[in-house]
Amino acid sequence: MSDSVNTDDFILFSPPTIGAKELHGVEEALLSAWITTGPKTAQFERQFQQLVGAPAALALNSCTSGLHLALRVLDVGPGDEVVTTTLTFASTVNVIEHVGARPVLVDVEPDTLNIDPRALEQAITGKTKAIIVVHYAGHPADLDAVSAIAERHHLHVVEDAAHALPAAFHGRPIGSSTNLTAFSFYATKNLTTGEGGMLTGDPELVDRARTLSLHGMSRNAWKRYEAEGSWRYDIVAPGFKCNMTDIQAALGLAQLDRLQQMQQRRKEIVASYHRAFAGIAALEVLPCRPGIDHAWHLYVIRLNRKATPMDRNRFIELLRQQGIGTSVHFTPMHMHSYYRNKYGYRPNDFPVAYCNFQRMLSLPLSPAITDPQVDRVIAAVLKIVAPPGRQVA
Ligand SMILES: *Cc1c(COP(=O)(O)O)cnc(C)c1O
Repeated sequence: MSDSVNTDDFILFSPPTIGAKELHGVEEALLSAWITTGPKTAQFERQFQQLVGAPAALALNSCTSGLHLALRVLDVGPGDEVVTTTLTFASTVNVIEHVGARPVLVDVEPDTLNIDPRALEQAITGKTKAIIVVHYAGHPADLDAVSAIAERHHLHVVEDAAHALPAAFHGRPIGSSTNLTAFSFYATKNLTTGEGGMLTGDPELVDRARTLSLHGMSRNAWKRYEAEGSWRYDIVAPGFKCNMTDIQAALGLAQLDRLQQMQQRRKEIVASYHRAFAGIAALEVLPCRPGIDHAWHLYVIRLNRKATPMDRNRFIELLRQQGIGTSVHFTPMHMHSYYRNKYGYRPNDFPVAYCNFQRMLSLPLSPAITDPQVDRVIAAVLKIVAPPGRQVA
């Protein structure tokens, strides 16, 4: 294999799966009289609600908006603290700042890299109002432990389910509880609308979020412009603008139709990776605990420092040279300059997240990745960390 990058052959980290159904759906939406929030968005909400067994569902322009609205409708604001994991994407923590509350970051469990329930409980103070859990990589966080803590301390639980469609914790689908739960349909996620999100949970809270998602209008624009609609509306709160469009919903409906098939393909790729890396001392894969239905959004591997001197950044560069795109999920939030400077965090404040961050990377995983591509990824990884005859346990 040559050392220069052949861009034709480059295996993207997470290419989307867009086909004729999506193209047809979007065309239909564009040629209909309704292109913003309308009948297709309503249908997407209904079908998504059915799929995960949600008490209610609200389609939005992003998961970030869903998390923001969740904190708003729970009246989280100045003076309040919200406890969450440091090993997450920026928006989980940014939204806490947006509502004027204080984010309190905690460390993760060494096996799943999900929020550590013991660290979570220790971080609770008299000011704590809510907990945001993140179902990291698609493996649900320990919802039994988190719910027990939330009940003991009378706290709200918000779920960042950006990675967790479809996933279940001991038979309960993520999104089926009354917790406000935010899904992402960003370009790289398991189901995509380009940009988009869905908020599920308690019907009354989701209803308040619906009003806030469209300027705080007492009734939505679709109803307002229907034949029987009227020009009258009332602003009941200074709301936001984060509704989903029917163009996005058309994409979402087409993707919902083949979600099962896409998940099947994800599982096949994961099985191939698992088989190939099982006996390799230099690599640690993330476990799936009993009772978990994993969404397999990410395939994270970690370098085992005891078995290889290979540096993570060098590993990523060597893979790139062999035409393989990877990513890192995530730089822990306490290491980003805004949070580091504002709250005085040091890298080792959360040693599990910090150590894992330094030795982790995410391999290409998407239903659009072919078997020959999977074989190429595996061969490239093994060539770097386990040259023939060496380091195979
Ligand atoms: C992608 C992601 C988000 C944000 O999703 P958007 O739809 O882009 O707003 C939030 N949390 C996590 C953990 C994510 O991976």
